[in-house]
Amino acid sequence: MANVPELFSCMVFDDRVMKQRLPDDTYKALKNTIETGEQLDISIANVVASAMKDWAVEKGVTHFTHWFQPMTGITAEKHDSFITPTEDGQVIMEFSGKELIKGEPDASSFPSGGLRATFEARGYTAWDPTSYAFIKDNTLCIPTAFCSYGGESLDKKTPLLRSMEAINKQALRILKLFGKDDVTHVNTTVGAEQEYFLIDKEVYNKRRDLVITGRTLFGAKPSKGQELEDHYFGVIKPRVSAFMKELDEELWKLGVLSKTKHNEAAPAQHELAPVFTSTNIATDHNQITMEMMKKVASKHGLACLLHEKPFAGVNGSGKHNNWSMSTNTGKNLLNPGKSPSENAQFLLFLTAVIKAVDDYQDLFRYSIATPGNDHRLGGDEAPPAIVSIFLGDELTDILTSIAEGKGYSKQKAKYMEIGAAVLPKFPQDTTDRNRTSPLAFTGNKFEFRMVGSGASISGPNVTLNTSVAEVLSQFADKLEKAKDFNKELNKIIKQTIKDHKRIIFNGNNYDAEWVQEAQIRGLLNLERSPMAYDIFDAQKNIDLFTKHNIFTKAEVQSRKDIHFENYCKVIKIEATTMLEMARREIFPAAVEYSSVLSGEIISKKSAVAGISCRAEENVLIKLGDEMNNLSDAIDELETVLSSIDANAPEREKSFAYCNEVVPAMERLRTFADRIETMMGRDFYPFPDYTDLLFSVN
Ligand code: ADP
Ligand code: MG
Repeated sequence: MANVPELFSCMVFDDRVMKQRLPDDTYKALKNTIETGEQLDISIANVVASAMKDWAVEKGVTHFTHWFQPMTGITAEKHDSFITPTEDGQVIMEFSGKELIKGEPDASSFPSGGLRATFEARGYTAWDPTSYAFIKDNTLCIPTAFCSYGGESLDKKTPLLRSMEAINKQALRILKLFGKDDVTHVNTTVGAEQEYFLIDKEVYNKRRDLVITGRTLFGAKPSKGQELEDHYFGVIKPRVSAFMKELDEELWKLGVLSKTKHNEAAPAQHELAPVFTSTNIATDHNQITMEMMKKVASKHGLACLLHEKPFAGVNGSGKHNNWSMSTNTGKNLLNPGKSPSENAQFLLFLTAVIKAVDDYQDLFRYSIATPGNDHRLGGDEAPPAIVSIFLGDELTDILTSIAEGKGYSKQKAKYMEIGAAVLPKFPQDTTDRNRTSPLAFTGNKFEFRMVGSGASISGPNVTLNTSVAEVLSQFADKLEKAKDFNKELNKIIKQTIKDHKRIIFNGNNYDAEWVQEAQIRGLLNLERSPMAYDIFDAQKNIDLFTKHNIFTKAEVQSRKDIHFENYCKVIKIEATTMLEMARREIFPAAVEYSSVLSGEIISKKSAVAGISCRAEENVLIKLGDEMNNLSDAIDELETVLSSIDANAPEREKSFAYCNEVVPAMERLRTFADRIETMMGRDFYPFPDYTDLLFSVN
């Protein structure tokens, strides 16, 4: 048994280690930098770097890397060793402040959406001292931001840090008006629940689609899926349990607060939830978690699937992004208070989020748009890609009572007076009462459930932080000018609830009627990713991002391009993989099975004159029909794919992929899956859904 407190964070150059190993004044200067975000003096950086290196070398480390999060959505690292040659032909281990603060990787192989002119391939990485350095694979990893040489952000960390600063600034303005002078900093906090599938590595390796694209492109429905609901929270199988145990330990060493683990709804699906922390660190930790999941799985002969929809017909995987705001004095700003004035403050922050989500529905949808997530949201499967908020009947009732001046139904005679009455107690939604809502208020935080399992959580949190910062700034503008603070506060809260109640929906989001209802309410339904990318540079969004210094207009446009480009690449790879599998594996298998059937018919007939071969003939004819269909579908997909003009703008191409290639892929799959069910089991060329979903015992 591991000694967890001893193990925890042992591979992190965290505050405890800094305090131990840095001279007092260096420690103080570094802390000051972390808190204020100011530049670190090079002389201090030298001392920190040297202490970091000594600490790392003691743990057997030989290399360091600037660890960054380019727009690919995964992390990148380039390893350099500490060795420095000496005059006598030996080496010493060195690490300078300059190497700690700044790196200059070649940026040309990372997506830049045209920001980085090809003649200036250099980009640079800059240390983010708010996230601790850590050791992974005998390498000291320095969390960094990644920019082009001209200073434009090329990564997922920079806008996140900027958005945290934006919401800090605006929330402080509001808190000051409530007399909270002791608060000097507001952070957003995140706990990202991570869903994933675990399957046996051997069956995984036999599926080209899983290996290349992360999801099954073919596969008929298994006889048993998740309908018996016997997997959710079920007993964890020994192999999975051994994996989870090692994963926990690896994550703890890296300071990741891995807390809860359980089986999820679909067979072979599981979840890990950490204890929440500051958004920036939660984002880094989620990246580390995904990486570790894959690595540890591999050690256990397993494959960890992080794709949003590895299997059709059973649940996909998401990442529930639990989000709140908290002060440096330890107060959660989305926690209903105990006194009337605390409640007024709570209501203001709560309505700010409601307005932010309604005003920027498009950005919320955009922030979770990936080709993989399209299979999980909208399109053919519930839930739809419509953004709405679940508040629960209780809280909705209270807000309605406030907005309309009607009695609160639980206390008939009572009107809700902001700032004058204590809020009635409403049950905290700790039990996921409504699991269908894209964004649920769960007592003291919002749970953004649309986020895909494979994606970085940076984007969704940039959207949350920035849109809420904007609404808080609008509120603060009014409140700061108000002659009567309480009157203005009441007015703002009431008006905001009235104006934005359309975004609140407590019903079943999976219900087909919700799509119509949402349309009547005027809510956006951006069904597929390209539609979502397209709204990113709408003027209102550029205004938002430039006002709060999150993105320049050029950065917005470059990101939009990167998304379109990525979408095209993903669909093209999937379509090409499908063609390969259909042509080179499925079709030949069907031919083989047909020839066995026809051979059987011939030999039966020659053995017994006039014998009936009805069964074989039936299958042979039906299979022949489906083989014709399959062959046509292969040709059709091939034709649509080759009709896409490689030189067309990425936006145009991505709509062609979405509207033409994706449907052709779906048709091809239909016929292939029918053939699968007709063929003898030993003839089907790769493991089927049952083999995959029940591969781990
Ligand atoms: P459940 O949703 O399973 O009932 P919890 O509500 O306790 O469990 O937490 C779910 C996730 O939300 C956990 O990762 C938890 O750390 C996180 N969480 C709890 N409080 C906050 C908060 N104030 N800010 C951000 N995340 C939070
Ligand atoms: Mg939850």
